[in-house]
Formats: sequence, C-alpha cells, structure tokens
Amino acid sequence: MKVVFLGTAASKPTKERGLSSIALQYKGNVVLFDCGENAQRQMLSIIKPSKISSMFLTHFHGDHILGIPGLLMTMSLNERKEPLYIYGPKKTIYFLKNFFKSGYFGITFDVIIKELKDKDIVDFKEFYVRSFETNHGVPSLGYVFKEKDRRGSFIEEKAKKLGIKGRMFAELEKNGEIYLGGRKITLEEVTDPKKIGKSIVYTGDTLPVDIPFEECDLLIHDATFLNDQDRNDTYHSTVKEACETAVKIKAKKLVLTHISQRYSIGEIQEEAWKYFENTIVAEDFMVIEL
Ligand SMILES: [Zn+2]
Ligand SMILES: [Zn+2]
Repeated sequence: MKVVFLGTAASKPTKERGLSSIALQYKGNVVLFDCGENAQRQMLSIIKPSKISSMFLTHFHGDHILGIPGLLMTMSLNERKEPLYIYGPKKTIYFLKNFFKSGYFGITFDVIIKELKDKDIVDFKEFYVRSFETNHGVPSLGYVFKEKDRRGSFIEEKAKKLGIKGRMFAELEKNGEIYLGGRKITLEEVTDPKKIGKSIVYTGDTLPVDIPFEECDLLIHDATFLNDQDRNDTYHSTVKEACETAVKIKAKKLVLTHISQRYSIGEIQEEAWKYFENTIVAEDFMVIEL
C-alpha cells in the first residue's frame, strides 16, 4: 500500500505546499483522507479520481474540505457511476448537503454520506477504518486504517504428511480445525505464521489526544507549531507533542504534517529528532510505501 501526501500546509497554501489531503492507495482502491482546496490538481498524474471509493474527513475547517465540490465535479465529467462514500464527524451531512446546493455541479453518481462517532468502525473487505475523537474546538475525528490480519500460506508438505488432501483444505480453512483418525489438526499447525496487517493512524488537526491503537506502522500527526507561544490558544499540536504521542503508542514511523510556513523543514526536523528518531516532515507528493 502507498500513502501519498497531496497537501501538507497548515491553513493556507504556500508555493511548495497544498492544503491537507492524503491518499491511501490499496490494491487498486484509493481512500482519501481530507480533501483540501486543489487536492484534485495535486493528484493529477498520481491518482485517478475514478479510483477513489471513499473519503474520510477529519473536520470542516475550510483547509480540509474545500477541494470536495471540484473533485466531485471532475468525477461527474468523467461520467462516474459508482457511488462515493463520504464519512466525517457530526454535522458532515448538514455541511455537505449545503455545499452541493451552492452551485451547479451536475453530479452523476450517488454520494452516500455517513456521520461517525468516537470508535466507530467502517468495515471493508480487506481492511477497516476506525474513528476516534480528537480535540480541535469543532467536531473532529482522527482515523485508524487497519489492514486485516491474514492467515499464513499452507505448508503443503506438512499438511499432506498428516493426511490432509483435496477438499479437506477448504474444510480446515473454514472451521479452523479438522479431525483425522480421531486426531484434531488445527489450521495453525499446517500454515505459516499469521501475516499481521499494516496500520496507519491519521490525527487530522488536534491538540494531543489518546489514540486507541498501539504499534501502528505509521502515525501521521498534526505538528503545526514548534512551541506553545506560537500555538497560543489554537487547537493544534507542537512537534514535541506529536513525537510524545508516537512514543506513547509505540508507532514505528512518524510523519509530521500540517506544517506552518513560519518554520523551515530543518527546524522542525531537528526538534523532532530530539524526541522521536524515526520522524519525517511531510512534503507534498511524498510517497510512503508500507
Ligand atoms: Zn487545518
Ligand atoms: Zn482545523
């Protein structure tokens, strides 16, 4: 799977950075997290809008959602027929319905909007997305993307030695065990170890919060500010706080995003390395493969 950073700026775009949007490419499917203004232009030559099956919005500050009408209009011009699922926090239905009433977008497909609460799960065939409440002064959610664990491959030689053949494989797979000559054989006995699915946590904009997931492969965290004075009374995290969260949940890798243009990448990177070594400062068009 690939994580593509389409926009990494805080609040307003710069020459180098677009507004918040992250695309997760998973086996030909794309799940979009936030859709800041101009996200559709940022994805040109990287992602086909037709591949986007669902969208998860963290909150309704303009810098995270103003790319939606344009993107949906492009999808319509491309004669999309498949439904698009949009998930977000409280008031998502209200805001999006008003959005679509504010112009002639000619949408050619169903847009299915669902509001999520803390710890809701949206189940897909091979992965799920779980929401968690964040602290941003408006209704807001972060998301855990988790690829489901898969069983290891059959160790055929071992299975055959134990007398398993033909349709018994399917039965063993279905029931997790099979009886042969009075002996119980479990699936684990004749398969490689389970393949643990990859996991990604995206906080969106937030003050530090408890994240209900440990040991994720990748934590993408708000790191708008370098210090408390600059943050003032806004609901964002500092670089240090993002790193502390990464340590707390034992994240394997940390990407800092929603970068304020007042700092250089060097300054942010240097601050981060004091607290969490495996940190990268996000840049537009950066791709992380997991
Ligand atoms: Zn923002
Ligand atoms: Zn915000």
